[in-house]
Amino acid sequence: MTKRIGVHLGTTGGASNAVERAREIGANTFQFFSSSPRMWRAPKVDPAQAARMKAQRVALDVGPLVIHTSYLVNVCSQTEDVRMKSIDAFRGEIERALTWGAEYLVLHPGSWKGLTRDEGLRLAAESISRAIDGLAWQGTPFHILIENTAGAEFSLGGSFEQVAELVERLKPSAPVGVCLDTCHTHVAGYDLVTAEGYEETMRQIAATVTFEAVRVWHCNDAKAERGSKLDRHEHIGLGTMGVEPFRRLLNDPRFAHAAFIAETPVDEPGDEERNVRVLRSLVE
Ligand SMILES: [Zn+2]
Ligand SMILES: [Zn+2]
Repeated sequence: MTKRIGVHLGTTGGASNAVERAREIGANTFQFFSSSPRMWRAPKVDPAQAARMKAQRVALDVGPLVIHTSYLVNVCSQTEDVRMKSIDAFRGEIERALTWGAEYLVLHPGSWKGLTRDEGLRLAAESISRAIDGLAWQGTPFHILIENTAGAEFSLGGSFEQVAELVERLKPSAPVGVCLDTCHTHVAGYDLVTAEGYEETMRQIAATVTFEAVRVWHCNDAKAERGSKLDRHEHIGLGTMGVEPFRRLLNDPRFAHAAFIAETPVDEPGDEERNVRVLRSLVE
C-alpha cells in the first residue's frame, strides 16, 4: 500500500469537494472538522453528500478519512454543565463521523482543571463511553483516536502514559486508538530530533501506547523549543524540529500502517500543498 500522507483541509467550500482538493494537492488522506470547531451547534450531515464523498474516496483512493473533534468539547471538565454539553456534542461528532464514513475521529482528552488528574481520567473515560453508547459503529472501521497534548498544566494526555491509561479504560466500551502529534510530543519534552533521542522516544511509545495503536501521526513542526509546553505549529522543516524527525517517522516500518497528516499553518495560498510535498519528498 502506498504511504498515506495528507493535510487538514478547511471545508468552507463544502466538505463534498474535499476529496478532489486533497488529490489536487498531492494528498491521499485528509482531516477536516465536521462542524465549526468553536460552536456547540452543528448541522446535520446531508446523506447525499456523504454518499458522494464515499464514492469519490473509492474512485480516487483517498483514505483514511480523519475528522477532528471541536475544540469546545472537554470530556473531563469539572463543570457538570460543560461535561454534559461535551458528551452531547461528542455524540454528535461520532454520529457525523459514522455518516461521513470516517475511519478516525481525533479527540483531545481535555482539561481536568479543578480536579485531580486521576479524577479527570475517570471522567474522560466515563464521558466518552456514554457518548458512544448505543451508536452503530460495530462492523465499521471507525475508531476514536486519543491525541497526545502539549503537556500544558491541567491538560490530560501530555504523556504517552496518560494517553495509554485512557485507551485502556475505554477498550471495553469503545473502538479506540491513538493519534500522536509531533509538535505536541516535542514541546511536551520527548526527543524526536536526535537519532538517540528518537529511539528512546520509540522505546517509550512501545512501552505505553504501542506502535500498532498509533493510527495517525499529526505532522507539525514546532515554533517553540522542546519541553516548552507551548503548542504552536510550524511548517514542516522550518521550526525547532527540522525535517529529520519527519523523515524518520515516515520511513519507520513500525508505523507502516499509520497515516501522516499535517496541521500546519496556512499563511499563504498553497501552504497545504507545500507541506504535503515536503512530507512526500522525505519518503525513501
Ligand atoms: Zn494535532
Ligand atoms: Zn497542536
